[in-house]
Amino acid sequence: MKGYPRLFGTDGVRGVVNEWLIPERVLRLSLAIGTYLGEGSRVLVGRDARAGNSFITNIVIGGLVATGIKVYYAGYVPTPALQYYIKSLGGFDAGVMITASHNPPEYSGIKVIASDGVELPHEEERVIEKIYYEESFRRVPWSKLSKDYEVVTDVNEHYVDGVLQHVDRDRIASKGFKVVVDAANNVASLTTPRLLKKLGVKVVGLNTELSPVPNRYPEPVPENLADAVEVVKSLGADFGVAHDGDGDRAIYIDDLGRVISGDRTAVLLCKHIVSNKNVKAPKRVVTAVSSSTIIEDVLREYGVEVVWTKVGSITIARTMMRVGALAGFEENGGFMYPPHQYVRDGAMSLALMLEFLSYEGRKLSELINELPRRYIIKTKVPLRRREEATKVIEEVKKVFGAGKRVIDIDGVKVIGKDFWVLVRPSGTEPILRVFVEASDEESTKKLLNEVLTLIKGVLSG
Ligand code: MG
Repeated sequence: MKGYPRLFGTDGVRGVVNEWLIPERVLRLSLAIGTYLGEGSRVLVGRDARAGNSFITNIVIGGLVATGIKVYYAGYVPTPALQYYIKSLGGFDAGVMITASHNPPEYSGIKVIASDGVELPHEEERVIEKIYYEESFRRVPWSKLSKDYEVVTDVNEHYVDGVLQHVDRDRIASKGFKVVVDAANNVASLTTPRLLKKLGVKVVGLNTELSPVPNRYPEPVPENLADAVEVVKSLGADFGVAHDGDGDRAIYIDDLGRVISGDRTAVLLCKHIVSNKNVKAPKRVVTAVSSSTIIEDVLREYGVEVVWTKVGSITIARTMMRVGALAGFEENGGFMYPPHQYVRDGAMSLALMLEFLSYEGRKLSELINELPRRYIIKTKVPLRRREEATKVIEEVKKVFGAGKRVIDIDGVKVIGKDFWVLVRPSGTEPILRVFVEASDEESTKKLLNEVLTLIKGVLSG
């Protein structure tokens, strides 16, 4: 099915509202999704609070209804809440989530969820793209259109209760934790504070009012979390948790005010699952090439094998199902816990973190300090055309990869004794992501410099 430009990126269709993501395109896409799903399918639609979603939501519902879909509307919900509802209630043929996750506030997007609650495989997205470009939409006769869409009001409540089932509530409540929540003025505001209160945690909310113009950028990365860091430090909180726009990521700020990379905290959660949770899955975790290689160093001690995949939660989730895994994660704060669901889930991650700390009885900063010390720099290089990425990757492989362990399933990752480098094209923007990690700041900067010089050389021809 070649020849059609891609609409779906790593994680759904994304674009700047009213520039690329215009009503006409949203309608065609909705008609294509509805046609793909088959007449009479039951589809749960949810949205986040992003600008533009007011019109996008209405168009999506309209497009689906016109193709003979029975629409259920969940309103403002985190993506994992929508997914959990689909998975746990059953009876839905699909879900559509209207969100651009962590992208800047001017973006929105649409992603399709399969009947098991996990994102649709990429091959299926290609089928939707074909229908979109060929405009082979199903037009349902007037007499067969459904009466109206149905509003579902208990998605967030059901989700929080689902997360609570997997942790020891009394143990957590007995510790008197104080946690700062930065919800990026989006849908995690509706679930994370509620979850924490039910776990007896004292909640300090930051950016917990829904707003299409958020106080902070949706991506939970250090440059966007200065306010949350200040609040954690000034209140002496146990830690802070920051979500992205649709609440599937959780990034932690430790009690010293350090923003911790998601792969570090994921290692802690994996240790917790292996040591305290009695999970029967094979001792295997699945993560993308963008995660640090310290994972292997730390988890080896626990007899855990690391399976590397391409970047993208769909790939991680489907790989976890195939190989059997006790957890899966991304360095950006996405964490998947199979007993709950095979999707990134910010609230589930948070509940497990609280449970881990309640077992350990030590501060998060102490537990982080026990991990191997490395210094990482993540940066990006803009591309004029996405095709430039291939040339850069080949060159990095040739120059840095010689005689070293190379993983080239997604861009190129070169692993040395005490460093690694990853160069890969973004799935959603015309940029190259460059990650460099080494033993200290100086050697990381030096290595990054070498990589960037090489990239600039290739790009300038
Ligand atoms: Mg997200």
